[in-house]
Amino acid sequence: MSINIEKLAAEALENGFDFVTDLDISTMNPMDEVRDMCAVDKCHAYNKNWSCPPACGTVSECAAEIKTYTTGLIVQSTITLEDEFDFEGIQELGVRHGKTSVAFTKFLRENYPDMKVLPLTAGGCTFCKECTYPDAPCRFPDMRMSPLEGYGIFVSDLCTKNNIPYNRGKGTLTYVGAFLFA
Ligand code: SF4
Repeated sequence: MSINIEKLAAEALENGFDFVTDLDISTMNPMDEVRDMCAVDKCHAYNKNWSCPPACGTVSECAAEIKTYTTGLIVQSTITLEDEFDFEGIQELGVRHGKTSVAFTKFLRENYPDMKVLPLTAGGCTFCKECTYPDAPCRFPDMRMSPLEGYGIFVSDLCTKNNIPYNRGKGTLTYVGAFLFA
């Protein structure tokens, strides 16, 4: 199908992201080294959610899935922190980025039912209060969002290769996501 990436970028901003840019799919390069960091389980999501490793597939399966998309967007949510101990601000940004990702995914599903969309975000899927993993299938596969890192993507490198800053200056914090389309 024909995809109007400029229109989608404008709609991503309308849905609440702070910065959006075109994503060159050829820069999505899943790496075992990034996936290995998930296994360290710093974020406490490893093996606890259908959207995260190992349930989201092997790195080569993720790479094969990415190759089925033709274009996409990188999306960012940014905050200026009061200081380096502004944990409230960090948490607030995580919640906002997650809510915006859900809102934009819903928007895309409703407005582009014939377009294939892969939403990738920061952190594991939080769409349900509690994930069904591993006892029952995912309740809402259309709303499931995997973390970019879970797909083996080195996020700062992805931003650099697509000419969008990953670090927006001293005292700021930026969360990154990507939406792939076909
Ligand atoms: S949609 Fe619900 S069940 Fe599916 S991965 Fe997300 S939290 Fe888990």
